[in-house]
Parts: sequence; C-alpha cells; structure tokens
Amino acid sequence: MTLFISDLHLDESRPGATEAFYRFLRERAARAKALYILGDLFELWVGDDDDSALARGVKHALREVADGGTRVFFIHGNRDFLLGEQFAAEAGLQLLPDPTVVELEGRRLLLMHGDSLCTDDADYQAFRRQVRQPAWMADVLSKPLEERRALGRHLRQQSQSMNSRKAEDIMDVNAGAVAQMLRDHGADLLIHGHTHRPARHALDLDSGSAERIVLGDWDAYGWCLAWQDGRCELESWPLPQA
Ligand code: MN
Repeated sequence: MTLFISDLHLDESRPGATEAFYRFLRERAARAKALYILGDLFELWVGDDDDSALARGVKHALREVADGGTRVFFIHGNRDFLLGEQFAAEAGLQLLPDPTVVELEGRRLLLMHGDSLCTDDADYQAFRRQVRQPAWMADVLSKPLEERRALGRHLRQQSQSMNSRKAEDIMDVNAGAVAQMLRDHGADLLIHGHTHRPARHALDLDSGSAERIVLGDWDAYGWCLAWQDGRCELESWPLPQA
C-alpha cells in the first residue's frame, strides 16, 4: 500500500492532531510500502535546529517508520518550506521537488503541495517567489531561532489577515494551471493538498480524461489517500478534539 497525506499543520496548540498522526504512523504507515507527505506537515517550520518537543517527537516517530522499512517522502508546503536536509536525514525521509512525478503500478502520478496552482492569487504567488529564493531562505536561516519564530508568527498573521479579505475562489487552484501541469508531465492523476477542500475531481483534458485528488487538512478529521492494487481511496476519520 502507498499512502498520501498533507496539511496536518502540526502545532503544539493541537496535541490531539499530533497524537492522531503518531497513531496513523504506527497503524497505517508502518505497514505501507511508502508514505508521501505533500507539505504542511507542520503549521510552521523555522529551521532544522528547532529543538521543540513537537519537532523532536515528530522526527522520532517518522524515524521509527522509516527504520521499519517504509519509504517516506516529503514535498514542502508553504508552512514548512524551510524544512531541510538535516531534518530529512534525522527523520529518515527523502525530500522531493514540487512537482514530482511518481510511477505507480503503470500510472504516472503528479504530486504537488498545491499552492503553486493557485495562480489567481497574484499577491500570494509574488510572496511565494520571494520567500523561495535561496538567498532569502539563507538569510532567514542565519538568524537566531527565537527571531525566526517571531518572524514566522508575524508572516502567519499577515497571511491570515490577507486571506480573510480574499474571495474564496482565488484561493483555489486554477483549472488552466492544473491542465497545463498534467500535460507538461504526461500524467493523468494529480494529487495535492493545500486548499483544504478534499475531493476527487474528474477532469476532461485534450489528451483524455484525468483526475485531481485533493487531500484534506487534519482538523476535525484526519485524511489520507490509500493506494493499493491500482485502486485508490480518499479516507477520513474523526480526530479527537483536544
Ligand atoms: Mn499549504
């Protein structure tokens, strides 16, 4: 079995979600061949030197699954794009670029976080281009941990207040961007998260039919896409509210 998850937004303020993730790792991921984490595992990641209990706990839990033989892959989200090679090595996971094509049982799957597909949100795309520049990231990572935590909180508040003034539809993916992406990569299945609008969408492309599967965020429910023997199922289950 291959599992796909995203948008857990793990944070010390939501211990219930973290517990649910640990249980998911033990009960599902440990028995899977591979686990793909498609971004926003953390609500905020400010550097691999983060020594919080949450950072250490998640690293340890991922490591156990990887040591047990499950291959774990990670694509950055907009909340945890500063997660780096040090965390990856310690957690036993492999970082993948966004987008990544994976061949699974003869199909070409396109994996993304999903934020780059929200092309109608020009402000966000400008912000994304800025903060994804290696120089910007290196500059931030050179600051003391406490300063990075404060900067992260500031950026999060700024994005929340910006998003509250935006129309719902500009924060969803752009249909043209989705079609282009699938065409460019010769894929007929796109799996992504980010929008917190879990669903399966049938698509009609010039090249034929395709599907876009959107993973859900771990808030009231946990979500995963489970793939086995050519079939995939978008699963959800209630999370304990802590
Ligand atoms: Mn996101």
